Amino acid sequence: MTDAPIFDPHAWKLTDLEADMTARARALGKEKFADRAEKWDREAIFPTDNYKDMHEAGLLGICIPEEHGGFGAGMRAYCLSAAEIGRYCGATALTWNMHICSTLWTGTLADDLELTDEQRARHKAGRALHYKRIVEEGALYSQPFSGGGAAAAGFQPFSTQARSTEGGYIVSGKKIFASLAGHADYYGVLCTHIIEGKKPSRSDTLYLAIPAKANGVKVVGDWDPLGMRGTVSRTLLFEDVFVAASEELMPQGVYFQAASNWPHMFLTLSPTYMGISQAAYDFTVAYLRGEVPGTPPIKRRMYPTKQIAVAEMRVKLEAAKSLWFQAISEAQCKPSKEQVLRAYATNHLVMETANELCRLAIRTCGGQSMLKSLPLERLYRDSRCGSLMLPWTAELCLDRIGREALYEPGESDD
Ligand SMILES: Cc1cc2nc3c(=O)[nH]c(=O)nc-3n(C[C@H](O)[C@H](O)[C@H](O)COP(=O)(O)OP(=O)(O)OC[C@H]3O[C@@H](n4cnc5c(N)ncnc54)[C@H](O)[C@@H]3O)c2cc1C
Repeated sequence: MTDAPIFDPHAWKLTDLEADMTARARALGKEKFADRAEKWDREAIFPTDNYKDMHEAGLLGICIPEEHGGFGAGMRAYCLSAAEIGRYCGATALTWNMHICSTLWTGTLADDLELTDEQRARHKAGRALHYKRIVEEGALYSQPFSGGGAAAAGFQPFSTQARSTEGGYIVSGKKIFASLAGHADYYGVLCTHIIEGKKPSRSDTLYLAIPAKANGVKVVGDWDPLGMRGTVSRTLLFEDVFVAASEELMPQGVYFQAASNWPHMFLTLSPTYMGISQAAYDFTVAYLRGEVPGTPPIKRRMYPTKQIAVAEMRVKLEAAKSLWFQAISEAQCKPSKEQVLRAYATNHLVMETANELCRLAIRTCGGQSMLKSLPLERLYRDSRCGSLMLPWTAELCLDRIGREALYEPGESDD
């Protein structure tokens, strides 16, 4: 039997597409991903079987425009669906985000930007190639962004560099925590285009799809982390890799424009943790009712302390859901200052709430609930990772809210 939707389509007034996509995601999550999740986590291996199922269900192309064979979903439909997957397998939901951004950012999001006619034509021709690979071949894209310096937080140009050469670019550099390393078919790399005589600049960021099999691409190091173990976020090295110009995911300058004008694009890491929050709450209710499969049918719901703990969890869950739903609903190009502050607050709240709900769930359910035979201890470990995701870590969200609430653009105290 499938679980109730996190966001009931009628109560939250979802569109037909959103209701359909979330139902597909929830059915796959419950029927297939939930039972497999322990294996990916325990062995820190990539959920390849889940991706085969998602390709069959059309979910790899959820954000690809309909004329290219996808569902044409916007950011909200994607986020709601990813939350449903995150309930059952955090590593699948998080890696799905890396893949989906290659289509969401190049799709509806880029369509909102003010591009020159030349940029628009180049972008439209370029993205068709990527969409065809995903829809027809089930190609997986990843999103290695972090290089270990200040670039991933949005403060410096990316240290991975691309130099122009005949027919394309030569790319060199390193990406750490590259989810899907060794499993994606294309690495959607953000790198700085080095232009002779010009200082490296964030405005010259290139977003390139580097084929995993290209000469000079290496996956190195191990991956044995606390949580999100199935993401297999190993280190990627690019040693003078030739990348054809046709592999651009966005023409030069467009990523920078997107990051500046469509800031909610960085909120797409949060759905996984919205799903984990729901899962921690659902587990607690089922456990206290004596209904978790594989555990004795002992009821613990009659104790007032348990009832209060569940009530507190419910309040936190409802608050996170409501704020998150508002933020993903109002995501748009050139949002107001209020909307941007709300987006930071949302990301902070969802990432921290996921961990808080898992913590409360273990404390409330008790010792037997955190055995590795049950999903709660995995949820607990996975939930801790949300606040660490750059560029909008929980800390950086607070930094940004404080600064941007108190200073208007250009203001200083000097
Ligand atoms: C499970 C998982 C999967 C991931 N997958 C990917 C992926 O697919 N692609 C990808 O690109 N990255 C990915 N990341 C990486 C993530 O975004 C970070 O880059 C990573 O956690 C490494 O951070 P760090 O310790 O080097 O951060 P540091 O840069 O050392 O920062 C440490 C902390 O300091 C704070 N901080 C950083 N810069 C500043 C600043 N200028 N001012 C004030 N405070 C600051 C932040 O809160 C940050 O959390 C993943 C991370 C995890 C945990």
